[in-house]
Amino acid sequence: MSHRLVVVGAGYAGLQAAKRLARLLRRHDVTITLVNASDRFVERVRLHQLVAGQSRAGGGLSLREQLNDPSVRLVVGRVTAIDAVSRTVAVAVDTVPALIGYDTLVYALGSGARLDDVPGASAHAYAVADLGQATRLRDRVGQVMTSGGTVVVVGAGLTGLETAAELAESCPTLRVRLLTGADDVGSGLMPRARRHLRYALDRLDVSVHTKAVVAKVREDGLDTVDGEAFAAHTVVWTTGFRVPELARAAGFATDEDGRMLVDATLRSISHPDVYAVGDAAAGLSVGGAPGRMSCQSALAMGRGVAGVIAARLAGEEPPPVRVGYVFTNISLGRRDGVVQFTHADDSPRRFVLTGRAAAAFKESVVRSTVRKSWGEYGGGTTCSG
Ligand SMILES: Cc1cc2nc3c(=O)[nH]c(=O)nc-3n(C[C@H](O)[C@H](O)[C@H](O)COP(=O)(O)OP(=O)(O)OC[C@H]3O[C@@H](n4cnc5c(N)ncnc54)[C@H](O)[C@@H]3O)c2cc1C
Repeated sequence: MSHRLVVVGAGYAGLQAAKRLARLLRRHDVTITLVNASDRFVERVRLHQLVAGQSRAGGGLSLREQLNDPSVRLVVGRVTAIDAVSRTVAVAVDTVPALIGYDTLVYALGSGARLDDVPGASAHAYAVADLGQATRLRDRVGQVMTSGGTVVVVGAGLTGLETAAELAESCPTLRVRLLTGADDVGSGLMPRARRHLRYALDRLDVSVHTKAVVAKVREDGLDTVDGEAFAAHTVVWTTGFRVPELARAAGFATDEDGRMLVDATLRSISHPDVYAVGDAAAGLSVGGAPGRMSCQSALAMGRGVAGVIAARLAGEEPPPVRVGYVFTNISLGRRDGVVQFTHADDSPRRFVLTGRAAAAFKESVVRSTVRKSWGEYGGGTTCSG
């Protein structure tokens, strides 16, 4: 019987893994199945653009076209459980349950918003971590901008910075505030990069509130632990990502956040027939720390795991997968940005790119991650709701 390779999740990591597996194993007796909740490939790294009304950004591309390989069987359905003993994945296809058996599983289910850390956030805050949330936030922004509403973005990590800047640039009638519990924005960047972040947020009229730790989100704003109240028509929650519970529920070894614990070849430390990649994996980067949740790590892991699996199927022991970094890329609207070049361990180099050159650099990197004709780009840069 053919060796059954199943990849669950077709984001940056899973799609990359499935494509490369198909290429490397063309002459082998294997079947490759890719399971994804939707038939669209979502460019998550553009969802802040979608929120700001750039209609063609991040709205989803045909997954079949992105895959571009008929030898991979695509199953569109939601994974509901994984049984590590019978080695089956339970999938709801159009709400009809199905079981898919595997000999080797690649777990690539990504991550979503982290809305359960603070009371009121899941009930009242909006998020930008997946297509459904970003679309809902876009519609909300469209409503509040006509009244010149206030949007408070909580979290000044990359998603928060990019979302605040994009909204401020595309929707100038909005009042945009950015809250962070840290004492500055851009920790981990060189001083010049941090200065430029501050300058750009200032230019876009984004007011930055540091050392503001949120205690509670209300329907009409939020309170900080210091008792300060912020009124807002819309609160956007960007304080980090949370991974699905499926790996932990299946009994795979995970860290306390539910990311699958893997060895240097991205193989589960508890189940040798299972691998994990992307946000859902606690893979170690070159620096020895768990990799940053990013498109950069996801692509490297997706490529790497395919090489590892192909080597093992050929009876060889593969070398470790190297997940190293090159830059941290932050867009600040469509005409500005910061690129902090990094060492492979993600520590910053001295070299920093800012302004239009950084924006163009980031745009070209984002384009390089998908198959898309140049004509498909564009979409308004106005806040259309
Ligand atoms: C607004 C925003 C901006 C970002 N900007 C950057 C950036 O500039 N640079 C950068 O490096 N990173 C950026 N990121 C982070 C980056 O998008 C993620 O780290 C990356 O998408 C992780 O890839 P992944 O393949 O692990 O997961 P994902 O891309 O999340 O893909 C997971 C896939 O699994 C599917 N899935 C999930 N659960 C199920 C289920 N139960 N059944 C079936 N399918 C399921 C999903 O539908 C999805 O297709 C940004 C993220 C956001 C939200």
